[in-house]
Amino acid sequence: QGATPVPPEGRTRLTVLSGPSGVGKSTVVAHLRKEHPEVWLSVSATTRRPRPGERHGVHYFFMDNEEFDKLIANGELLEWAEFAGNRYGTPRKAVTERLEAGGQVLLEIDLQGARLVRESMPDALLVFLAPPSWDELVRRLTGRGTEAPEVIERRLTAARTELAAEPEFDVTLVNTSVGEVSAELLALMRADD
Ligand code: 5GP
Repeated sequence: QGATPVPPEGRTRLTVLSGPSGVGKSTVVAHLRKEHPEVWLSVSATTRRPRPGERHGVHYFFMDNEEFDKLIANGELLEWAEFAGNRYGTPRKAVTERLEAGGQVLLEIDLQGARLVRESMPDALLVFLAPPSWDELVRRLTGRGTEAPEVIERRLTAARTELAAEPEFDVTLVNTSVGEVSAELLALMRADD
């Protein structure tokens, strides 16, 4: 707690924020972007339906399965994964262009995607967002208690497996406070500049 983690030397300017579902990745990224609009975040393609308030080209590029298949077939995705019945992928071109221009890139993706980025871009900095405690993650995943016990049980089983991925990452940030974690993430990205 307190000290800013130091990234390993010699990284490219690609930072991947990942972690178990329900840990608060998108909340951290939203906070970071509000305070620092200059942080460049990759906009993913997805086959998921938009949620209220989500905009095409801002939160995601929303598309049907056929369009998504085309992106895969044309090699236009840097990585993609299936998550909770929908597909999500990182458009390659925008990321490559940004990196070639000397800019920083932030990806907020699931654990499978993070592993694929690790393979294709070994220099990427992989950041694992961890819950403050197991009990806290259980609290977040069970939410308002409106879900069936089997569904909650399935999510908890998945979360246990997901937490075990932590050692594969370069750095762990513990999500105690959104403000603190987003500042730590920014410091990690800036340490590369
Ligand atoms: P949601 O449907 O809640 O927006 O996202 C579900 C999960 O998909 C989250 O864990 C999010 O990080 C992940 N995700 C979003 N975009 C991508 C992507 O481009 N690639 C991968 N692998 N995962 C993604």
